[in-house]
Amino acid sequence: MPRFCRQSFTLSGLSFLLFVTAVSPAYATELADEEDIASSVVEYPVHRELVQPGTDQPEVVNKDIISQDPAQREEKPQESEIISAEVISAEVISAEVISEETESSVTEDTENLIEKNSNPPLPVIPQQTPLQLLGKEVQPGAFVALQWSPEQSFQSINTPVPVLVAHGAKPGPIMCLTAAIHGDELNGIEMIRRLIYQLEPKNMNGTVIGIPIVNLDGFRRGSRYLADRRDLNRHFPGSPKGSAADRMAYSLFHNIIRHCEYLVDLHTGSLKRTNLPQIRGDLGNEKVFEFSRHFGGITVLHGIGADGTLRQAAEEIGIPAITLEAGGPNQLDNTSVDEGVNAIETLLQNLGIQPALRFWAAPQPVFYQSHWLRSDQGGILISAVELGDKVRKGDVLGRVTDPVTNTGSNIVATFNGRILGMALNQVVQTGFAVYHVGVEKEPKKMKAEVVVEEEKKSPQEQQMLMDNNIDQE
Ligand SMILES: [Zn+2]
Repeated sequence: MPRFCRQSFTLSGLSFLLFVTAVSPAYATELADEEDIASSVVEYPVHRELVQPGTDQPEVVNKDIISQDPAQREEKPQESEIISAEVISAEVISAEVISEETESSVTEDTENLIEKNSNPPLPVIPQQTPLQLLGKEVQPGAFVALQWSPEQSFQSINTPVPVLVAHGAKPGPIMCLTAAIHGDELNGIEMIRRLIYQLEPKNMNGTVIGIPIVNLDGFRRGSRYLADRRDLNRHFPGSPKGSAADRMAYSLFHNIIRHCEYLVDLHTGSLKRTNLPQIRGDLGNEKVFEFSRHFGGITVLHGIGADGTLRQAAEEIGIPAITLEAGGPNQLDNTSVDEGVNAIETLLQNLGIQPALRFWAAPQPVFYQSHWLRSDQGGILISAVELGDKVRKGDVLGRVTDPVTNTGSNIVATFNGRILGMALNQVVQTGFAVYHVGVEKEPKKMKAEVVVEEEKKSPQEQQMLMDNNIDQE
């Protein structure tokens, strides 16, 4: 069965087909014969609902509820709603007047009128409103490029950053995509370009806001960091009175991110490491868990964001946020980009924003735990495995050899799992984290175990766990 399926059927047909897909052996075939993984097919089928989870309301009502800038949700009823309410009350009065008339005077015409007036009022179709962002007003159905200028005295980070906005003609969720918060991570930049220029705002329900290069200064220098060597993704939600990084984080968060209803932050592996395309989120957070199920068949890894990451800060103000990792830094990996775009296209369809050109109907491999395997000696690393490989306890993953003495040692899998991230072949030191292996267990059981374990841990222990996460976004 192909992983990417082009599908253009109706909703009812889709539900049926997705069900068939969910119970088909596709996933088991792909991931070989692990019994525990096969069971995850049942636990994590693809979505059957196309809009917001947890409701079976008509699509129009859904879009009304989830429409618009959170800051504007409290606004007065729209004009069309007021007019409609007045019409309804006029109809009620009319019906009352008629019922007071004697039965003999009721003509055929009046009967028709009563019948007409007793019909329920037509549903109110919500209207899209202009989007207020960065001091500009974006009209429904428009695609615009805005500019975000972090208000800094630091010349180097004061360059306006392009913000691309596709504001749908009809109401719906506001989805934000951020890339290159680390300036050397290129795959996300390309993902946003491919995705956002194929959007059709005139046919969209909702809004997509894309910031392809958040750290423009780092991007120009080919660096992960800001000009002051700080990692921007440790400073959210920022502060208007703090360091340059704090202020930049605050400006982004305050001016753009708080308007989002969903956030996908795009990253790659760091420091000569590469990642299997995967999304990461705190699956213990119910909103994030639901959101994570909208991305089609991409691998999912549970993890709490480090302090100061954009996704953690967004989650803290109630925005479901996910990090999408794909490939490594300083390179454009076409396969990873394609997989990421497919996941986001599927997301846009599942949120009801725009039908996907490609809909990814495979079930998701979900990992609630992962560990890094390290080199026990320094030397030249040559890997025997590739990203995505399934490994079993005892398998040799790679070998590190001292180039002078010609002595070497193998790095061996200590549990069954899947390679989610790995170092590129290079010179490594003793203790270097080489393979990031997802633990394959039955997802439901793992989720319960992980939640209990995390609740038991002190804040210090949780911090240690996160520090141990080599490849933080
Ligand atoms: Zn990153």
